[in-house]
Amino acid sequence: MHELINTVWKLQSLEFDETAPGRADQIAGLRAKIPLQVLGHYDRLRARGKKGVSIVRNQVCTACHMQVPLGAVMTLMRGADIQLCECCGRYLYLPDPVEPPKPPAPKKSPKAKAKPNAHLSPA
Ligand SMILES: [Zn+2]
Repeated sequence: MHELINTVWKLQSLEFDETAPGRADQIAGLRAKIPLQVLGHYDRLRARGKKGVSIVRNQVCTACHMQVPLGAVMTLMRGADIQLCECCGRYLYLPDPVEPPKPPAPKKSPKAKAKPNAHLSPA
């Protein structure tokens, strides 16, 4: 996870949660950590009533439902850089992968693969 987008994401979460205790101080602290250029873009989106950060799910921007290029997703996964959605211009936030609940696997012993033809010699 890229530190910067994590910070912007936290900022957005706080700014959209008006009930969070002590949020004014936290918001000020987070804003101080974000470069002005990034903050400016975020604020422009916010001024239009939009969220500045969008979650990427299944390689799709959840704000505009457009597919995010694989290269951008890979960059996000590596935490190498922050990425903007090419379609809606939001910052893309890739949450840490959550293990989906697995359906109960059918019981299978590791030595279940019997070799019925083992007695046959390979002619
Ligand atoms: Zn988008």
